[in-house]
Amino acid sequence: MDRISLGCQVCLSTFFEVRDLKRHMSSRAHQQKCTDVFKQDIYKGSGNFPFIALVRQRAKEEIRQPLTGLTLCFSRETDNFFYLCHLCEEKCPSSRILSHLTSIDHCRNYSSHTNPNVLRFSWIPSNNVKDILRPQVGHGVKESGGGKLQLLDLPGNLLKKHETSSYSEVMRTFSENETLLKLLEAVKPKRVMMQTYQRDGNRKHPLLGMQHLVECICVGQTEKRHYLCTLCQLTLAAHAIIKHVLSFDHVFCYFRAWHPHTLLAKESYKAYSPVFSSTMLNLAKQTEQIHGTANADMKQVSLEPTKFTSVNFTCYADALKELESIRNENKESSLITSVTPGNKLALKKLETIRKENEESSLITSVMPGNKLGMYFIYFLTFNLGFTIYTSIIQR
Ligand SMILES: [Zn+2]
Ligand SMILES: [Zn+2]
Ligand SMILES: [Zn+2]
Repeated sequence: MDRISLGCQVCLSTFFEVRDLKRHMSSRAHQQKCTDVFKQDIYKGSGNFPFIALVRQRAKEEIRQPLTGLTLCFSRETDNFFYLCHLCEEKCPSSRILSHLTSIDHCRNYSSHTNPNVLRFSWIPSNNVKDILRPQVGHGVKESGGGKLQLLDLPGNLLKKHETSSYSEVMRTFSENETLLKLLEAVKPKRVMMQTYQRDGNRKHPLLGMQHLVECICVGQTEKRHYLCTLCQLTLAAHAIIKHVLSFDHVFCYFRAWHPHTLLAKESYKAYSPVFSSTMLNLAKQTEQIHGTANADMKQVSLEPTKFTSVNFTCYADALKELESIRNENKESSLITSVTPGNKLALKKLETIRKENEESSLITSVMPGNKLGMYFIYFLTFNLGFTIYTSIIQR
């Protein structure tokens, strides 16, 4: 990772050296701005300043992605400090920040946030980054530089109050201060939204089962969103929705419902491999062609702020019950999409499906998922065998 810049979250100014940031934070202008934002006197001396391990060479070598959406919260009145990772919506102590930023979960959230195309379609949870991300992820790192770390200079009482709080508790308190909320929003990296990704002409991945997703939006605060996947029976935070739809967990539930017996038992799929990848893509493209636009629309529920905060989005059953009763009151249809299971799918050449669909649309309505032979897999195996054979011959 390249050079990291440092931002003052209160003044929205940027520095390239720790000593310049320290000098800024001891200045009268910065201290006055803090007093205005927090509406209380803050510590006037130079006080404690956090040790920023992330700017050290070793950390820069280990972290794969540019820093983004990361706030270091500290107070000069105490030597404790913590980080907020807005990409993962997690609070992290300084002792774990390096392992967090180099973790596969953060890596996946970074990709989902900035460019979902770099995730692998139907990714399987794994400790191997190659199983999660497509190889071109490396290019983005160089282009985007080292990124920026925001530092938030807090009054001592506010920092102490949140030493043991969760990410959402800290953010709830920060959001109650309108000025601070605006400052945080000003530098928050823009997330790729599900609708934007769905309409993106450069989208690389099929999106299956969109009709089973429910998007709950808070009226007047559209950045507040929660999702339900009624197929997998899960609630999901906004940062997790795209990576969920691209995950094998979701793709598996989709095929189990719409094309039963197409896939083997879930435990049979343990590792990501080229054959697994092309199989899943082939089946996904078939089902997209069979179901066409019926696949496309996510359901939306708009909730007034008091209703939005009253729904328990940590529990799927509670959230669904609450949302269904609201829909019922408004005489709207249920959020559950009924499924008519189609035929078992087998691997086939995609041109064959297109041709079949064109022919049947001239004659009669399409019956989903005709079963064909497994010659695609023979074709793959033959090709692989042939490549190995020729490489041996060439030695
Ligand atoms: Zn400042
Ligand atoms: Zn993170
Ligand atoms: Zn799902």
